[in-house]
Amino acid sequence: MLKIVILGCGGSSGVPLLGGADHRGAWGACDPGEPRNRRTRSSIVVQAPDGTTLLVDAGPDLRAQLLAAGVGRVDAVLLTHAHADHVTGLDELRMINRIMGRALPLYATEETLGEVTRRFDYAFRGVTPGFFRPALEPFPVRPGGTVEIAGFPVRLFRQDHRVMDTLGLRIGRFGYSTDVVEMPEPGFEALAGVRDWIIGCFQRAPHPVHADLAKAVAWSRRIGAERTVLTHMGPDLDWAWMRQNLPAGVEAGYDGMMLEVT
Ligand SMILES: [Zn+2]
Ligand SMILES: [Zn+2]
Repeated sequence: MLKIVILGCGGSSGVPLLGGADHRGAWGACDPGEPRNRRTRSSIVVQAPDGTTLLVDAGPDLRAQLLAAGVGRVDAVLLTHAHADHVTGLDELRMINRIMGRALPLYATEETLGEVTRRFDYAFRGVTPGFFRPALEPFPVRPGGTVEIAGFPVRLFRQDHRVMDTLGLRIGRFGYSTDVVEMPEPGFEALAGVRDWIIGCFQRAPHPVHADLAKAVAWSRRIGAERTVLTHMGPDLDWAWMRQNLPAGVEAGYDGMMLEVT
């Protein structure tokens, strides 16, 4: 049994967006009175029974997310891609370095590692006394195989995000697919038989780089997932609306949501 915690389930600008009539947030179709509509940038942790923890993506809300979820241990980090909403929290891992007392292994494709080593070059220069810089150790991975990360057997597959590829992942009968607008066939093959699936779905209407609601539901049916949880949601997707309108087996995620998976 593994524990998955959705640290954040918002789109690239979170919900609410900055702005709004009073500059206290643009909520779109979301009810500001519903706490589950307040969404930070998308990220999860996967936790084994012994506490071993894999962090998937490190967005700009990472510090507050780890505090809110009570996560003080990270054994490895996996990045799905190098968009800002998935990587700009890498600096926050400096405190995790201190807690763990070592550099953190960072798994991503060569392309993603190239981007983050350019943007966060100081994080890849080894361990400093007291970790005054984050210390990350890059491990390149490729879609199409299974790689052991912090003891978790992680099957990786390529997803089409239009502007770049992203990594989808499967651990046992759990799958995580964010930032995807078309799923290539090997992705469906990798996800076949997944019981719990978290899928990025930005809005109701079609979107150029993200799956929309109809697409996410159709993919879920094709995979045969028992439980599908939406993430990476924008301000178009109101929690109460989704509770009333999503088909059986499909539900909206929320920040702090916990799933037990096998
Ligand atoms: Zn994103
Ligand atoms: Zn993206």
